[in-house]
Amino acid sequence: MDFKEIIEDIYKKTAALKNKGQIASYIPELLKIDPNKFGVHISTIDGFNFGIGDYQDKFSIQSISKVLSLSMAYNIVGEKIWKRLDVEPSGTAFNSLVQLETEKGIPRNPFINAGAHVICDILLSHLKNPKEDFLTFVRSITQNSEINYNTKVVTSEKSVGYRNVALCNLIKSFGNLDNEPSEVLDFYFHLCSLEMSCQELSQLFMYLANDGKTIDNSQQILTKSQSKRVNALMQTCGFYDESGEFSFKVGLPGKSGVGGGIIAVHPDQYVIAVWSPNLNEKGNSYKGMCFLEEFTTKTELSIF
Ligand code: GLU
Repeated sequence: MDFKEIIEDIYKKTAALKNKGQIASYIPELLKIDPNKFGVHISTIDGFNFGIGDYQDKFSIQSISKVLSLSMAYNIVGEKIWKRLDVEPSGTAFNSLVQLETEKGIPRNPFINAGAHVICDILLSHLKNPKEDFLTFVRSITQNSEINYNTKVVTSEKSVGYRNVALCNLIKSFGNLDNEPSEVLDFYFHLCSLEMSCQELSQLFMYLANDGKTIDNSQQILTKSQSKRVNALMQTCGFYDESGEFSFKVGLPGKSGVGGGIIAVHPDQYVIAVWSPNLNEKGNSYKGMCFLEEFTTKTELSIF
């Protein structure tokens, strides 16, 4: 399979499309990004790496970090994690309060904001220096010390994070947070502010294509079964209220963020990361979705 030629061809076609959608405007700091940035990077299980466009530019990975926090918490507490949250698609917006009320503070899944707050709470209870320890965990997966939080994005999110504050307080009122909402939120906003490039993302997430092991097989980030389950959750819940559409059109487990990034995983084959900041009305990168649909169509390499 000539990934380089296929990616170059689809990149050219996708870059020429009208750049529909809009940058996430509710986080003021994200509005500073050039909407025409567009990068793609693939890493394969047999060691092939290729990037095109702005694949080395760092951007705010936002909700893509929810896969990393889930992986770290799952590794620490194992299956009892599922006592605190569910594994069902929500069918509502990522920051919706409605289900939490009727479902008594148990979030539908770890990728909606409420679920990510519970994961942050679990990590806060288990880590000595949560922000440093989380960064060390992420950096150690690819031995990449360049990965960092962006404190401007943290401050910007805190200044407008009313819904996240409401969600955390509601979960706390049901007794599903052990720590104070303010601590959970501070940690959560830091995780969302992580910055990475498409190249770094595709290399970092190789453990989900490699049965939970880092690509050099030196670290077991998740067990084989946990890796399968995280992929299953990405397949069913990774794209907000458009997870069905992504499955239908692209056919890969993946996760998007409102910074315009998408990672998609083909277990045992490859990880591909795409970044284009303009989002469609469901909050997923417009060009990112177009690119990935073409990619799995041309390569016939979706999981279905
Ligand atoms: N930090 C964002 C929020 O909590 C995450 C949004 C996302 O990427 O889904 O609203």
